[in-house]
Amino acid sequence: MKTEADSLKKIQIWKLKKLGFLKEYWAAGSLKWTYRSSGEESSVGINVMLSESERYLRIYYTQTDEDGNKKDFDYKIPITSTPCYFGGYRYWFTCPWYANKIYCGRRAGVLYKAGNYFACRHCYNLSYASKNQSRNKFSLILDPLFKRDEIAEKKYNLRVKFWKGKPTKRYMKLEEKEWRVMRRIYLSGQLLNKLGS
Ligand SMILES: [Zn+2]
Repeated sequence: MKTEADSLKKIQIWKLKKLGFLKEYWAAGSLKWTYRSSGEESSVGINVMLSESERYLRIYYTQTDEDGNKKDFDYKIPITSTPCYFGGYRYWFTCPWYANKIYCGRRAGVLYKAGNYFACRHCYNLSYASKNQSRNKFSLILDPLFKRDEIAEKKYNLRVKFWKGKPTKRYMKLEEKEWRVMRRIYLSGQLLNKLGS
């Protein structure tokens, strides 16, 4: 259980922006995750295309299944944008997930690794719910993790974080919220360990 939460891979659009992937119309690179519990690393290759006619994140990686068979994945996640109040654009992923042959297409700032593919939190929850009867146990740890990502994004998007050397009220509020969520994550981890999952 702890490893599940530990190894929750995700791609945040604001992080791609921070890493400079959204500056030009074309960018290439890779994203890497390290599992806290095992120290194991995994990575994916990415291309970002932001031209007039095409906007997407291309993602490619190789995965080994339980039988040791390697499988290559290579797909595009469409990127959309909405105008910002203070000018410029805010970018979003369009969730590429197909659940029961129905295309999701939701606008999302974060995509999580659900099974073999990256998908939005709704799809991620759904795929977990169908695989695991004990949905509540999972939401106990997943919900605060989703919440933490939401707060991190809000913090990043705050236009004014400091004013005359002091943190703004909004920033302070988000800091407090973040602290409470971190505590929830910690406590739910403790609880799950106690339950022996
Ligand atoms: Zn989705």
